[in-house]
Amino acid sequence: MLRLGLTGGIGSGKSTVANLLRSHGASLIDADAISRSTTGAGGSAIALITLTFGKEFLTNDGALDRDRMRHATFADPQIRERLESIIHPLVGKESTRQEAVAVAAGVRSIVFDIPLLVESRRWRKRVDAVLVVDCVRTVQIERVMARSGLDKAAVERIIDSQASRGERLRAADMVLFNSGTLMSTLMVEVDQLVQRFGL
Ligand code: ATP
Repeated sequence: MLRLGLTGGIGSGKSTVANLLRSHGASLIDADAISRSTTGAGGSAIALITLTFGKEFLTNDGALDRDRMRHATFADPQIRERLESIIHPLVGKESTRQEAVAVAAGVRSIVFDIPLLVESRRWRKRVDAVLVVDCVRTVQIERVMARSGLDKAAVERIIDSQASRGERLRAADMVLFNSGTLMSTLMVEVDQLVQRFGL
C-alpha cells in the first residue's frame, strides 16, 4: 500500500487533484478539513483555544473566529505557533485514526492532502512519496481571491508564510503543473500518474 503525500501552495489545486485521485479509488485524508473540524463549533480544539486566547477569539456559535485569528497571527508569529501547537496534535491523532480505518478496509493507496507537508518533518516521515501540485504565484493569487474574497495583499501574505515554490519542488517525487492547465489535461495527467505508480 502506498501512502502518498499531496501538497502545494494555497490555491494550487490540491483539492482538485485529491478528488481526481479519489475517483480512482484512493482513500483521502484531508488535513485541512480535519483542522477545520477541530476549530468548528464543538470541535476538539475549542476548549484549549478558549483557555489560551480567550473567548474573544470565538464566534457567537462557539467556533474559532478565523478572520480574527488570521489577523492576530500575522501581527504576532508566536500566536500562530501556540495555535499550531494546539491544533497539530489533534490533526495528527485524527489522521492516524482515519489511516487505520483505510488500512483495515484494504485500500491500495492513501492520499494525504497536507498543505504544509514540506514545512513539516513529521508529515514527510509519514508518507512514502510526495506529489506536488505546482502553480505560478499570479494564478494562485487569482484563484484564491476569486474563491475567498480575500484581497491581494492578504493572499500574498499567506503565500509568503508558506514554503517557497522551489522548496516544494525540491521535496517532490512527482510534480503536476497546474497553471493555465485545462481541467481535461489535468485529468489525463492524473490518469497517467495513477497508471505509472499503480496508485
Ligand atoms: P487551498 O490551498 O486554498 O485549499 P487548493 O490547493 O486545494 O487550495 P483547489 O481548491 O483545488 O486548490 O483549487 C483552487 C481553485 O482553483 C478552485 O476553485 C478550483 O476549481 C480551481 N482550479 C484548480 N485547478 C484548476 C484548473 N486546472 N483549471 C481551472 N480551475 C482550476
